[in-house]
Amino acid sequence: MRILITGAAGFLGSHLCDRFLAEGHEVIGMDNFITGSPDNIAHLFGNDGFSFIKHDVTEYVHVAGPLDGVLHFASPASPVDYLELPIQTLKVGSLGTHKTLGLAKEKRARYLLASTSEVYGDPQVHPQTEEYWGHVNPVGPRGVYDEAKRFAEAMTMAYHRFHGLDTRIIRIFNTYGPRMRPSDGRVVSNFIVQALRGEALSVYGAGDQTRSFCYQSDEVDGIYRLFMSDYTMPVNIGNPDEFTVLELAQKVLSQTGSGSAIEHQPLPKDDPKVRRPDITVARTELGWEPQVSLDEGLRMTIPYFRDKVYTVDAKSRSLFAPGNETVTQ
Ligand code: NAD
Ligand code: UDP
Repeated sequence: MRILITGAAGFLGSHLCDRFLAEGHEVIGMDNFITGSPDNIAHLFGNDGFSFIKHDVTEYVHVAGPLDGVLHFASPASPVDYLELPIQTLKVGSLGTHKTLGLAKEKRARYLLASTSEVYGDPQVHPQTEEYWGHVNPVGPRGVYDEAKRFAEAMTMAYHRFHGLDTRIIRIFNTYGPRMRPSDGRVVSNFIVQALRGEALSVYGAGDQTRSFCYQSDEVDGIYRLFMSDYTMPVNIGNPDEFTVLELAQKVLSQTGSGSAIEHQPLPKDDPKVRRPDITVARTELGWEPQVSLDEGLRMTIPYFRDKVYTVDAKSRSLFAPGNETVTQ
């Protein structure tokens, strides 16, 4: 297959490129680097199956030649990012989804939308099944992301029903792993970076809110299986093991061996109190379930952040202390 992946230079998009290439497909990556980095795909340049187009997908999207698939992953994804980029987030979820759907229709390609557990908002049904319509505040700060993704789902289903486009919708639950930006503000990256630097871990609120953390290779496997399946309704892909934010902080402290303190900070507005996927549909329709526990996933993630933190900190120290090149961690 010849496929386009938007958001290819991001955390998940870059792992998805790796997976499609490993399965023998040809991949065209597209990204404008607004929250991604060329570093995430640097290893792919020189691979004959990979090419890259730097482009903002809220503008008309052109790809020469045939396409068999379009996977729309472009969008700021961390709450810190989408609160800083509210208009871009709304535009990439609405205009970007419309443009990429138009491209898929033109090329008669299969389309997969990266949606999110945020379509359930601060859920009143727990765990969340795909039938649940959600509890979203459209005018709250998170509305820019949640409503953009809800619109994107509606637009995708309209192309499916009205134009007969072959579509898939994945609702991704908190996913983590190497290639996240150390400063992207999400809880796993924040806690690991803070622990490695010996800074206090910033637990928002009492830390009794819950999330269910999925390691990237499990998430990517779920995306790949959904794309290859015939299932056209939304599917939750996430790890159903649920933890409080305080439990996550304790795990990060113990795995990094850090002596960092825990510092409680104000809870952001509309922060969901609980989140856990019901994965019955993924199990029955895709034969998918996660393989990597949170402990194992953290073990595979911490070394990546250790390298990043060391590089960034060493660079900033050498900037402020010119001549001091023997800085150690
Ligand atoms: P990310 O920020 O690492 O990657 C997003 C990528 O999209 C970045 O490389 C960014 O530069 C690119 N992008 C943003 N706007 C663009 C535009 N207008 N044109 C071209 N490129 C653009 O985030 P991620 O965690 O890899 O998330 C990828 C997708 O998965 C997003 O759609 C996100 O909503 C969805 N998702 C992720 C999670 C998660 O836990 N990681 C959870 C739910 C949904
Ligand atoms: N959180 C936290 N400290 C941080 C970052 C996040 O306590 O430094 C909390 C946040 O309030 C939320 C959970 O961790 O309850 C997950 O936040 P994240 O930003 O990773 O993603 P969300 O699930 O909210 O989209």
